[in-house]
Amino acid sequence: MSICALIVAAGRGQRAGAERPKQYLPLAGSPLLAHTLRRFLTHPKIDRVKVVIHQDDRELYNEAVAGLNLEPPAIGGATRQQSVLLGLEELATAPPEIVLIHDAARPFVDAATIDAIIAELAHSDGAIAAIAMTDSVKLAKSGVVEKNITRENLWRAQTPQGFRFQPILSAHRHAADLALTDDAAVAEQAGLRVQLVVANEENFKITTHEDFARAERLLAANMNTRFGQGFDVHRFGPGNAIMLCGIEIPHGKKLIGHSDADVALHALTDAILGAIAQGDIGQHFPPSDQKWAGAASSQFLAHAGNLVRAAGGEIINLDLTIICEEPRISPHRAAMQDSITRILSLPAGRVSVKATTTEGLGFTGRGEGIAAQASATVRMPQ
Ligand code: MG
Repeated sequence: MSICALIVAAGRGQRAGAERPKQYLPLAGSPLLAHTLRRFLTHPKIDRVKVVIHQDDRELYNEAVAGLNLEPPAIGGATRQQSVLLGLEELATAPPEIVLIHDAARPFVDAATIDAIIAELAHSDGAIAAIAMTDSVKLAKSGVVEKNITRENLWRAQTPQGFRFQPILSAHRHAADLALTDDAAVAEQAGLRVQLVVANEENFKITTHEDFARAERLLAANMNTRFGQGFDVHRFGPGNAIMLCGIEIPHGKKLIGHSDADVALHALTDAILGAIAQGDIGQHFPPSDQKWAGAASSQFLAHAGNLVRAAGGEIINLDLTIICEEPRISPHRAAMQDSITRILSLPAGRVSVKATTTEGLGFTGRGEGIAAQASATVRMPQ
């Protein structure tokens, strides 16, 4: 049975004062959308994940999903309902049996809820996450209670809302001219049977500033801190420039290596890989592979950063020490920090570059090469 998650992220909803739609705002270091996507990408029963985005958000989207394994995004319409229909129409070219439609702004959907919805679709056309009303419900006008409404049989609908694919596609096509509040309402309009699945309060929709703060607290409680270290050496050979931290520095020699021999970025890459227990740079980019001959080491570092991001983690800080007699590092230090910050798309102030000599001692003292050592602190979901 093929199961696809369709994540609706085309909304324009913005938090007051924010410069981008809320689904692209950072939450514990990665965009809200990326948190939501990981819930589905890591679920063993979900085969495909597709996102519906706003046409103006392509750049934000590409940045947010770097390293994640997704189908090409669909471009949404003016309303959520139109966006879902456009997403379903794209899926229809290779239709799944089941589609789970989910709001980008609900990053805390749990695997058990997804499982329960999928299980229910064995005997229903639709199954949606919902919560029973536990508060007393009032009908009020201008803040004055007019009537108490019995809460018995009242539920709050969340997402995911799961459906057998062909019936919901056809229901959405027929409901295109109606303004309905969710996909369950579209299904109901078409006479489909929609079963409620009891979800939980953590699957809340992030809307307000307070919601973001609550989400940060929930994520922080679920993160732990990891530390990694890296070390590398490259020797000098004849040449006229060296690459250090992704910057070309004119010099009377160059560093020898299979790639561009950027010893500093190699040490940093290993520090990040070490922090997330993902082996070392040689495993990810074997020197035996001709593909990496002369390669820019910035792509090795970016890859390590993407692994952290794809796992829902965040690089807290990087500290690099370059060990050599020459060239002098201090004139380039600020540019080096900027370069690393840019390669990893980090907030400012998280990268430190330092340099030392070895007082003329050892191979660095004799000017035979450059050594670099680095440390990385990373926050990762447990
Ligand atoms: Mg190296």
